Parts: sequence; structure tokens; C-alpha cells
Amino acid sequence: MQTATEITAITNQENAADMPENVANLLKATIMMVDDEPITMEVVQAFLEDAGYQHFVLVDDPREAMATLEEKRPDLLLLDLMMPEISGFEILQALRARDKFKHLPVLILSSSSDNADKLQALDLGATDLLSKPVDPSELQLRVRNTLAAKAYQDQLAFYDPLTRLPNRHLFLEQLDWTLKSAKRNQDAFALLSIELDQFDKINDTLGLFTGDDVLRQLAQRIAGIVRSADLLGHFDIEEESAVNLFHFERGVFSLILHRLHRERDAARAAQRLLEAIRQPLKIGPTEIYVTASIGISTYPTEQVNSINMLQLASSARDYAKGKGGNSFQFSSRRINIKFQQRLSLEARLRKALDREELVLHYQPKLDVARNTITGVEALLRWHVPDRGLVPPNQFIPIAEETGFIVPIGEWVLETACRQLAAWQQAGQPPIDMAINLSPAQFQNPGMFKRFREIIEASGVDPKCLILEVTEGMLLEDSNTKIEIMNRLRAHGIRLAIDDFGTGYSSLSYLRRLPLDELKIDRSFFINLFEDARCRALVSALIKLAHNLDLLTVAEGVETEAQLSYLQKEGCDQYQGFLFSPAVPAAEMEMLLSAAG
Ligand code: C2E
Ligand code: MG
Ligand code: MG
Repeated sequence: MQTATEITAITNQENAADMPENVANLLKATIMMVDDEPITMEVVQAFLEDAGYQHFVLVDDPREAMATLEEKRPDLLLLDLMMPEISGFEILQALRARDKFKHLPVLILSSSSDNADKLQALDLGATDLLSKPVDPSELQLRVRNTLAAKAYQDQLAFYDPLTRLPNRHLFLEQLDWTLKSAKRNQDAFALLSIELDQFDKINDTLGLFTGDDVLRQLAQRIAGIVRSADLLGHFDIEEESAVNLFHFERGVFSLILHRLHRERDAARAAQRLLEAIRQPLKIGPTEIYVTASIGISTYPTEQVNSINMLQLASSARDYAKGKGGNSFQFSSRRINIKFQQRLSLEARLRKALDREELVLHYQPKLDVARNTITGVEALLRWHVPDRGLVPPNQFIPIAEETGFIVPIGEWVLETACRQLAAWQQAGQPPIDMAINLSPAQFQNPGMFKRFREIIEASGVDPKCLILEVTEGMLLEDSNTKIEIMNRLRAHGIRLAIDDFGTGYSSLSYLRRLPLDELKIDRSFFINLFEDARCRALVSALIKLAHNLDLLTVAEGVETEAQLSYLQKEGCDQYQGFLFSPAVPAAEMEMLLSAAG
């Protein structure tokens, strides 16, 4: 077993070459290229030289390929497919037919977008494919991976035979590479050090064989999660090499999360891992329960070299273990504090619905010309016992990430519909009810059906309902969402685009989305009279919306002057503190009665 100090010692020795020994070994590889375009080979060579490779053999006459292979015995062949005289396919076939080249890694560099060509190349024994023009980092990665895999075949040196995961050697190399590439590309990444709690005890009491079994099963389980798309909660995971998993020594795993978007993605990954690890393991007839402790260091929060990052993650892990295990800990104090607060809010939010801590307030929407109430917008509030009313911006993001937004959103719809029905039955003037939707709600496949049921049960006419969506919801998978929007509209429900003009505003959304209403974001009105550009934008948005047959609603109107401006510009409706903020249902009732 190597200790942290030993690792430091090893790398210090290696500092001469400024990299772990095995990276240096890979860089000693001889890379041969066969391509009829010398310029392509020069570019590829330059990219690979950037990564530190030094030994190249370039062949621009495919007829010489086999002879040169014999002579130079490269470690890796980069092969073009489409060449005159002899094609890459033929070369591939010829070399695979010879025993000594049977296992030579061959990367196909192909400009062919034809899938059949690619399949044929793979069928003939190509190791991997790369499309031209090559992306330098992809090229470097694939070359490195291919060479590493070759090393595995050759000597099993980089892999742990028990779990079949890459071992510490590959880890250090990968970490080093990751750090350099993160520095170069200004990327963020996280290093997770995972240690099984009290693994020694399992070995001692149940024996080494059982210990091995536990490790194998857990390694599989962890690898399964690492491959699954939801580890990070965003879609990058589908990219190759977004996550790397390693097994160090008995019971210690390491994980590198590349291209981290937010620190909380690392926390989320750690939570998922802990959850998966603590599920019971079946070893023969018995069930064994294992927990783990995880330490996380992140770059660029920690401005350090790779060994320090590993040490920081390990000591954070020891700290988590010292607190009783089954938890994770960041190496940075600042991040830890942030997460503790967040976790406690998350835990409370889980119970908020059951404890009836959520309430809806209602903000009137008014007709600009007549200054009469046309409807209300339901706005969610969370009544946290010792913190008072928490505004939605503080908890909706958590609800979205954790998926609570789905039951919460249904509760909002149900409560708002029930309230509207009650007002109608009490003889209040007919009004519309606007409800905010989160993108996550559209990811729920049964959403439309659920909404229809809730609305039917309440007895309100769907024509009175307006669902507000934001531009952000269109970022992913928009076709499914547009389909749901179409179904909602076919059912009589109107749709509004909320906070228009913030975020990723794109006029193309207005064309693509089935919409009835455009809500101009509050930010345009803050400096309406100081900033001529705000006025220009507001008046252009109103005209644009009208030309697209959309009703316009101004958000956040606070002064009479703003209102007169909107009257002059022909805006249809407004909301804002000028008339009323969002108020509890009882107060809203008084406003309605006074108006009616
Ligand atoms: P939003 O839908 O754009 O709601 C308008 C926000 O502006 C509300 O904040 C409202 O109180 C505030 N506002 C209205 N008039 C004025 C004004 O004259 N001046 C100023 N300074 N502010 C004004 P709130 O209630 O804090 O809601 C914030 C956001 O939270 C909402 O923005 C909406 O995106 C989200 N939200 C609220 N309720 C729900 C809900 O039930 N479900 C979902 N998914 N999101 C919700
Ligand atoms: Mg809204
Ligand atoms: Mg808004």
C-alpha cells in the first residue's frame, strides 16, 4: 500500500520529466501515419507533438505501407481510408492477416462520413475511428487511450486485475493530463477520492475472498453509475471520457469528473455514489452493508498540482470518515459551508409539501388601457418555520435539481385551480389564472395527462388557465416539449413566455413555440426613462409581439410614469407593485371584490 508521502516521493523523482513515468512511457511510442496528403500528416504530427509525442514515421505512398511497418515496428498506426492505388481497407486487411500485426492498434483517420465505410473499417479490425478534420484534443485523447490500452494488452501494467479498473499509475497520468488540459482550456474538474468505510473489518471477519467479492461487486456498481447519464445531472456525461474511475488499493477508488459545470455537480455525483454504495450486497447467502466516505477537491478552486489535489481529496475523505463515514466532504471550507446550508434546505424541502409549508400568493394582472384586473399570477412561497417566507428563487432551483418540482408543480396547479374555482363559485368576476412551469416538469412523460386530470377535477375551464414557460426550457430536447405545449394548447390552455428578453432570448423561439402571450421582463422597466435603449426595446417588443399575434404583458411595473408609457405604446396588460405585489388569497379576494 502506498501512502500519500510515498506518492509525493515518487512524483518528485519524476518531476525531472515533469510527469509520471507511465505518461513518459506512452510518449515514447512510435506513431506511424499513412496518408496520401502529406499536409494532413504534418498537422496531425504537430498536434501530437504538442501532447509530447516525439517519434513519427510518415508514409505518403500507401504502396510502401507494409514494408515500412515491417521496418519501423510502430506502436500505433494512424491510417487514412481513401487513398489512390491502395486503400486503407486493403492495408488494414493485409496487416491483420499477419501474426505480428494482429494486435497493432490502428486508428482510422477518415474524412468519409459514410457509416458503411466506418463499419467496414471496424469489421476489418480497426481499433478506433477519428473523423477528419481532427480535433486536436480528441486526437490526443484517442491516441493516448489507444496506447494505454496497448500497454494493458502487453503487460496488464495499468489495470487492477481484481476490479479491472485502471490503477494508480493510469490515474496519476490521467490526473496530470486533466490538470494540464483544464489549465489550458480554462475548464473546471473535480477529483473524488472514495474509500469504503471499515473495509478492513470485512477482510478480517469474513476473510479476504469475501473482501475481494465485495470489491468486485462494488467496482461494478460504481462503474455502472459512472456510465449512467444521471451522475452529473447534465448531459455532458454522454460525451466520452467525461468521467474516469480508478481503483487504487483495496477499498480506495478515485473518480475524475471532467468539465465540471458547477461545484454542486460534484456534490450530486458524490451523493449518488454514496447512495449506490450503501445498497446491500449479496455475498452468497448473506447480505453485507458497506458505506463509504468521499473527499472532493476541485480545480480551479484549488490552485495546485495534481499530487496536491489528490492529497486534498484524501484528507477531505479522511475528515468525512472521521465524522462517522457515509458522507462526503469538499477540501474547500467555503464550499463545505455552502453545501451544508444547501443540504439542510434540501432536506427541509423534501418535507415541505407534506407539512403544508407551501402557499400560493397571487399577483393581479391588469388591462393597461382600462386598469382593470384581468387575472392573477400564482406565485409560490415557502413558509419555513424558523426562517419565515422563503422566496421561490431560493428554493425552486433546488426543487428542480432534485426533481421535487414535479410533485410541487402539481400541487401548485391543483391549489391554483381550486382557488380559481372557489372564487368563481363565490361570484367573483371571471378572471384568468397564470401558473409558472419549470422545464423539469416537461421532462415528466405523464405531465399532460396529470395536468388534464387535475384541471378536470377542479372543474375550472382550461380556457381560464395560462401556463408560463421560460426560454431556458427550450435548451434541451425541444421537440418533445413543443409537442406537450401543442397538446396543452389544443386542450384550451394558453401559453405565455415569461421573462422575455433575459437569458438566452432568441427571436427564433417566438417562431418555434406555440404561444399566446409574451411577458416582457422586469429588467427593461427598471431604467426605462434613463436608458433610451430600454424604451426602444420595449416598444419594438410590443410591436413584434402584436405582429405575431401575441398578447403583451409588462412585468414589474412600479410607477405611474411607466404605466403611461405602456399605454402610449399599446401594451396590453401589466403586473407590478404599482397596483399590488403578490398577496395571500384572502387579500386577493378583497382586491377582486373592490374591483367587481
Ligand atoms: P416570475 O414568474 O417572472 O414572477 C414575477 C416575479 O416578479 C415575482 O417574484 C413577483 O413577486 C415579482 N414582481 C412582481 N411585480 C414586481 C414589481 O413591481 N417589482 C419587483 N421588484 N418585483 C415584482 P417571485 O414571486 O419572487 O417569483 C420569482 C420567480 O419564481 C417567478 O418569476 C417564477 O419564475 C418563479 N416561480 C414562482 N412561483 C413558481 C411556481 O409555482 N412554479 C415555478 N416553476 N416557478 C415559480
Ligand atoms: Mg411568471
Ligand atoms: Mg416573469
